[in-house]
Amino acid sequence: MSNKKNSLSKSTLIRSIQCSKSLYLYKNNFQLRDKPSTTQQQKFDRGHRIGKLAHQYFPGGKDCSPPNPFSYDTSIAATKLLVQQQFAVIYEAAFKYNGILVALDILENKNGKWYAHEVKSSFRISNTYLLDAAIQYYIITKSGIELEDFDIVTINNDYVFDGTLAISSYFKCTSVMKEIMERIPFVEKTIEEAIATLSSDTMPNIDIGAHCNKPYPCDFQGYCWKNVDADSIWYLPGISMQEKSSFIEKGINKIQDIINTDEFNARQKVIIQSFQKQQVHIDADKLRAFVQPIQYPLYYFDIEAFQPAIPIFPNTKPYERIPFLYSLHYKENADSPLEHICYISPVGNDDRENFVQHFLLATEKTGQILVFNTLMEKGILFKMATDFPQFKTQILERINRIIDIEVPFKELYYYHPAQQGSFSLKAIGNAMLGIDEFSHSIVKDGEEAMAVYNELFYWENKEEVQSKLEHLKTYCYTDTFVLSKIVDVLAQQVKM
Ligand code: SF4
Repeated sequence: MSNKKNSLSKSTLIRSIQCSKSLYLYKNNFQLRDKPSTTQQQKFDRGHRIGKLAHQYFPGGKDCSPPNPFSYDTSIAATKLLVQQQFAVIYEAAFKYNGILVALDILENKNGKWYAHEVKSSFRISNTYLLDAAIQYYIITKSGIELEDFDIVTINNDYVFDGTLAISSYFKCTSVMKEIMERIPFVEKTIEEAIATLSSDTMPNIDIGAHCNKPYPCDFQGYCWKNVDADSIWYLPGISMQEKSSFIEKGINKIQDIINTDEFNARQKVIIQSFQKQQVHIDADKLRAFVQPIQYPLYYFDIEAFQPAIPIFPNTKPYERIPFLYSLHYKENADSPLEHICYISPVGNDDRENFVQHFLLATEKTGQILVFNTLMEKGILFKMATDFPQFKTQILERINRIIDIEVPFKELYYYHPAQQGSFSLKAIGNAMLGIDEFSHSIVKDGEEAMAVYNELFYWENKEEVQSKLEHLKTYCYTDTFVLSKIVDVLAQQVKM
């Protein structure tokens, strides 16, 4: 294996374990790959940042990172030299064996013995991380370096930031030598199969399925899923991907093809029948019982939070949810105009206390507070009540006024066939209102909002930051505006 098209790396081997067709496409039709989303890009950047931070855990190293992704030969040569010199700590140490390239975050030399450290920006060690480590171990040792130990460096879930980052408490190391050894035969088999895939002129014949999202969302979904119809069995919610595959094997490709619904549960039957008849399903009694207690004045509320992996504010943990934006629509009575207020925390400051105070003031007047899926809002408000006990009574009073508008959809008191099996606010709004209000918003969902705000802490251009904050406000405004319209439609339904 010598040319670039046939070369392999740790990430392409992991790709081939997920799906050999993905490896084939990556090497032969790279241009078909989906562009990384803002959220995925933020995860890459975060991983890179945590990797750099880990250098402080193993200080004094020499960095062998290549000047660009096409110059790994310089990294391999630099690593070789430093290994010969028995240098104490090497960052981004690169190795190649049989045409397979791996880079290790940190290679450490202690008393003439080599120790490998691979950094991950999560709390737990997944099977994919162990496979990663086994591939690295295999190539490094085959390149002639004996490893005394191999550990995965993760973030310590128990760490609480006190204002100064304590690197030795933030990270934790776990030896995975035993798990690596168990996976070596699998690594050898994977390498053989990946080489066979690359040597072939034909793309592997692999159907779409559960593997398209496990362990990672495959970046060829745009290509492989593009001809999947909206009424495909793949979009039927509430059944596993394995069950969907078995329907397809039996020739049932579309929801329309289902004749006998006996083997489906009550929820699935509602969705199938609604789709087949193209009719809205309404459980009138239950919907009425839910909607009737909702009385003006009403607040429509949404919070956005971000989760910094490296804590920024004192008394917070890694990945703790920190609210930064809320949107609140308010309607006094059926004839009054829909008013709006929002609040976004300035980037850089610990603004949680102002945030809570602003929210409490904005919701001072009586009125039920309607949200879509209470988990996020209630979770954040309960945490604020703990962190700011001076506001506890008021916060708990607001929590008691919350009503979850997701309930009638989750419980199928109402289902619109245009939801296409999705129960997101956006899908429900599009289906009920017949218009995509989010088409005006550059930020498309809560996950993206979180990713965008998180990155702003590393941006220096104030105008660009301000522009992004406006995009975030537009997104959050749209969320509560759509929520208010959905509630209007539900109210009309029970009047009919
Ligand atoms: S989208 Fe699915 S089938 Fe297509 S390459 Fe990716 S994992 Fe394989």
